[in-house]
Amino acid sequence: MTVWIGTSWKMNKTLGEACAYADGLAATPVPAGVQAFVLPPLTALAAVRDRLAATPEVLLGAQNAHFAEEGASTGEVSMRMVKDAGARLVEIGHAERRREFGETDRTVARKARAALDHGLLPLLCVGEPREVRDRGEAAARRFVVDQLRAGTSLLAPAEVDRVLVAYEPVWAIGAGGRPATPAEVTPVMAAVRRALAELAAGGRCRAVLYGGSVDLDNAAELLAQPPVDGLFVGRAAWRLDGFRALLRVGAGTLVR
Ligand code: PEP
Repeated sequence: MTVWIGTSWKMNKTLGEACAYADGLAATPVPAGVQAFVLPPLTALAAVRDRLAATPEVLLGAQNAHFAEEGASTGEVSMRMVKDAGARLVEIGHAERRREFGETDRTVARKARAALDHGLLPLLCVGEPREVRDRGEAAARRFVVDQLRAGTSLLAPAEVDRVLVAYEPVWAIGAGGRPATPAEVTPVMAAVRRALAELAAGGRCRAVLYGGSVDLDNAAELLAQPPVDGLFVGRAAWRLDGFRALLRVGAGTLVR
């Protein structure tokens, strides 16, 4: 069994700050059975790759990339470019990108297609907004499964089993978010797993992670829920000591 523990630094860290974190991470033994991953800002990706050159057990990724091969898309970078800069996985469809930059299910699907075409592992983010959750758990399940189907709609079944999914309820993300309880998380993640079992060849799925206001207070309890294969963390892992502590929590889950 593998427990995934990853963090996106979002729009944080200068090159110097990113390198200092990466140096510390390179000196941190990643516990056996824990798959760590880090998504630096694009400006620091290549530098962090170099710092982690002798630490292949930490997967490096990008927080976003365009679906097109190349072209006149000012301010964007392609899958090929992030791969060249060191990404092995790419985050797709985060709630902040859907809200602030107009990501749609269609662009998410095209990005998942492009990621696999370039040999990158897509980390597909799904999650219902607060107004959907207010209509109840069934509405949340339907919304998230629809997002998942749409996001994987350009993939063959044998490709769906290479997708990593992060369930991140929008109302639980970030400084204004309310941490979700295991009782709120588990049924939706179980529905995600069932949907993936239908969509993927042989009913396999890579891993389903939970994200949204994860910290040291709730990490162990969330990881103890059967549909949860790992955690995708923002604020609580922006400092290296926070990430290290979460890696230890992940390892602790394995020995229980
Ligand atoms: C996120 O935005 O993906 C996230 C998990 O953020 P936070 O942990 O800060 O809520």
